Amino acid sequence: MANSYDVIVIGSGPGGYIAAIRAAQLGLKVAVVEREHLAGICSNWGCIPTKALLRSAEVLHLAEHAKNYGLMLEGKISPDLAAIVKRSRGIAERMNGGVAFLMKKNKVDIIWGEAKLTKPNEIVVAKTTKAIVQPQGPIPKNTLGEGTYTAKHIIVATGARPRALPGIEPDGKLIWTYFEAMKPEEMPKSLLVMGSGAIGIEFASFYRTMGVDVTVVELMSQVMPVEDAEISAFAKKQFDKQGMKIILDAKVTKVEKAANSVTAHVEKKDGSVEKITADRMISAVGVQGNIENLGLEALGVKTDRGCIVIDGYGKTNVPGVYAIGDVAGPPMLAHKAEHEAVICVEKIAGLPNVHPMDKLKIPGCTYCNPQVASVGLTEARAKAEGRDIRVGRFPFVANGKAIALGEDQGLVKTIFDKKTGELLGAHLVGAEVTELIQGFVVAMNLETTEEDLMHTIFPHPTISETLKESVLDAYGRALNA
Ligand SMILES: Cc1cc2nc3c(=O)[nH]c(=O)nc-3n(C[C@H](O)[C@H](O)[C@H](O)COP(=O)(O)OP(=O)(O)OC[C@H]3O[C@@H](n4cnc5c(N)ncnc54)[C@H](O)[C@@H]3O)c2cc1C
Repeated sequence: MANSYDVIVIGSGPGGYIAAIRAAQLGLKVAVVEREHLAGICSNWGCIPTKALLRSAEVLHLAEHAKNYGLMLEGKISPDLAAIVKRSRGIAERMNGGVAFLMKKNKVDIIWGEAKLTKPNEIVVAKTTKAIVQPQGPIPKNTLGEGTYTAKHIIVATGARPRALPGIEPDGKLIWTYFEAMKPEEMPKSLLVMGSGAIGIEFASFYRTMGVDVTVVELMSQVMPVEDAEISAFAKKQFDKQGMKIILDAKVTKVEKAANSVTAHVEKKDGSVEKITADRMISAVGVQGNIENLGLEALGVKTDRGCIVIDGYGKTNVPGVYAIGDVAGPPMLAHKAEHEAVICVEKIAGLPNVHPMDKLKIPGCTYCNPQVASVGLTEARAKAEGRDIRVGRFPFVANGKAIALGEDQGLVKTIFDKKTGELLGAHLVGAEVTELIQGFVVAMNLETTEEDLMHTIFPHPTISETLKESVLDAYGRALNA
C-alpha cells in the first residue's frame, strides 16, 4: 500500500533522520514527517549555526591578537555582523540540503506537514502551521503531503523548544531565545544572559568576543552547572579575564521593558536585588520537549516533566510507539539523539546484541572560549556515590603544543576508581578539548583502565599529550609537571 510503511519517523532532526537512514539500511520501508525544516534544530538553529558564529568570534579574537604571533594587521579589525550572520545561515541551509540528499539516497520518503498519532500504528499529517524551509536546489521527488499514513512502528523524534519562565517570556524583540540570538539585526551594546548552561554560555562567549558588554546570571553556584566544579571555576576565571560579568547564586525575578532596553531585577543569595539594564536579554533557561498535539494523551503514552518516557531502546509504554532525542529527555544533545535512533531502529529490526543507551558515556561539549568537554562522573558525583577515587590533573601551561599555539590556559582532570583503575570520568577545559574528549569516550567505552592509557603512545607535539599526563598524574607519575 502506498501510504503504508514499516517505520514512520516524526521529525527529521539528528534523531529522526538518522533513524530513517538506519532503518532504510536494514531494508525497512521508511518515511520521515517534517513540519518545518529538514535536519531539525541541530543544523538549522542549534549545534551548527552556533559553531559558525563562534568560529567568526575565534577568528576575530586571533586577528585582534595577531601581534602576539608576530603579525601586524593594518587598520581597525571590526566585525561585519550582517556577513557573520549570513555565513552562519548559509551553513545551516547547506546542512538542510545535505539531509534532503541523504533521504533521497536512502529512498526515504519525506512527508511534509504536521503529524499526529491517531492509533499506535497510524498518523494523520495535516497542513503545517510553520513556514517550511525547503532545502536548497530542486525539491526531491520523494516528497508527499497531507493524509493518513500507517506503519508497524512509529518513532516520535519531535525535538524540543526553548523553555520560558513565567513573567519573563521571550518576546523576540527585547528578550531573545536562541532563534533571535542566532541572527541579530544589530549588535546590542549590552546583553544580559539568563542561564549559563551550554546554550547561554556559548552565546555569552560569542557576544563578548564581539565587544558586547555581557552579564550572565546563573541560579546555581557555578557556571555550566552540570560540569565538574573545578573545571567550571577554571573556565569562569577566563570569562572574568575577558570582561564577562558573571553573577552566580542569583535569579532574575522580574524584567521591566523600555523602548529599546530591559531592566532585570536580579535577586542574590543574600536577598539583595541588583537592577541590571541591558539592550537585550537572552533567556537560556533550558528547553522542553515537543510533546503537545501529537495525540500522545489519547493513546496513553507516558510522559514525565515534558518528555516522553522510554526504556533503554526508545520504547514507550505503548507497543509500536517509540521516542528518541530531545523529546525523550535529557541530556538534550544531538549525538545522544543519533545514538538513541540507531539503538531504537536496530531493536525494531530484531538485530542481536543491541546495547541499551548508557547515559554515563555520553560526552558533553560546550564551545565557549575556553571550550569545555566532559564524560562520565564529576569528582563530586563520584564522591557522592561513595567511590574511592584517584584524581589526576594536568595543566596546558606544561604542554609544548598548547604554548606554541598561544593557548596555554587549560586543564585536564581525570577520575579513576582507586581499586580497579577504571576510568570514571574526564573533564577538560581549554583549546580544542571538544575534539580531544573523544579519546576518553572511546577509552571508557572499552572499559579501559589507567594501565591501558599509560601504555598508549600519544603523538608529540599535541595537546592530546595532556590527556596522558593527567592519567599519569592520578598515579603520581606525571612526567612534564
Ligand atoms: C543554540 C543551540 C545550540 C546547540 N548546540 C549543540 C551542540 O553543540 N551539540 C549538541 O550535541 N547539541 C546541541 N544542541 C542541541 C541539539 O540541537 C538537539 O539536541 C538536537 O537537535 C535534538 O535532535 P532531535 O532529533 O531530538 O530534535 P530536533 O533537532 O529538535 O528536530 C525535531 C524536528 O521535528 C520536527 N517536528 C516537531 N513536531 C513535529 C510534528 N508534529 N510533525 C512533523 N514534524 C515535527 C521539527 O520541525 C524538527 O525539525 C543545541 C541546541 C541549541 C538550541
